[in-house]
Formats: sequence, C-alpha cells, structure tokens
Amino acid sequence: MSAGIVIGAVYATDEQKLDVAKAEAALGAAEGGIPIGAALFSAEGVLLGSGRNRRVQDGDASMHGETNAFRNAGRQRSYRDTVMVTTLSPCWYCSGLIRQFGIGRLVVGDDHNFLGGQQWVAEHGAGLSVVNDPELIGMMGTFIREFPELWNEDIGEV
Ligand SMILES: [Zn+2]
Repeated sequence: MSAGIVIGAVYATDEQKLDVAKAEAALGAAEGGIPIGAALFSAEGVLLGSGRNRRVQDGDASMHGETNAFRNAGRQRSYRDTVMVTTLSPCWYCSGLIRQFGIGRLVVGDDHNFLGGQQWVAEHGAGLSVVNDPELIGMMGTFIREFPELWNEDIGEV
C-alpha cells in the first residue's frame, strides 16, 4: 500500500503523500482508534511529520490526525509552503489550525464521509486538492457503520 512513513524522505506526488496519511490511518485502526491519518510536508515533498487521530488511544478529544501530524512536525519557521495531507476532510478545529498557521495547501483524501471546513480554508488562500480515493471512502464508510457511537463522539454529535 505504501512505502512507509519515513520522516525526511521525499514524497513527490499527492498520491505518495496521501499514502503516508493512509498508513497513519491504518495504524490508528490497528490500535482500536478512529482511522484518520494526516501528514505535513514541505514544498519539496519532504515529510516533516505525520500522525493520526488519538482520541481513543490517548483519551484526548483534541488529538485529531491533522493536529497530531502538526505537533509531530515540530516547530517550523513558516508554514506558507507546507502541505497538509489528510485522509478525511478537516473538521472546523483542524481547519482553524490550517488557517491559523497559514499552511499553504491542503490535500483531502475523502470528503464523501465528512465535509469539514476545507472550502473555508481555500477561500482564505490555501490551495485545495480533493482526491476522493475509493479505498479511503470505503474504509471510512465501513468504520462509521461499524462504530457509529465512536464516530458521533468524534464529530461532536452525541
Ligand atoms: Zn480535526
């Protein structure tokens, strides 16, 4: 499925970048967590950090995939040229993070199962690419059907 998650390696294409986020989502699923993964890349495609939703694993509702990737990337001088890649359309909280730090581009793997603030982020200057990867759409759809309570908790609809 992917070439693995190698910090500092170059992932040239959006497909390769999305594979890193997918690998994070798969790790989250294997841990019994919510299978949403994300990764932050430099303009050159260097992987700065990746992460996954850790609500279940850490007992932390604020640890979303994008947030975890952002934190794992450490402090960057500027985010203007970075690319955030996420398996699922970013919620308002993560959309706020993308806008707050001026992340330059957003790649979304799936906006069928959930549509967050991606258009709002794009309207404020970020580039937006929506892949709608069939494998991801199927994976997330299955998760939502199998774990509706966990999903509703994550999107704040309890
Ligand atoms: Zn989020």
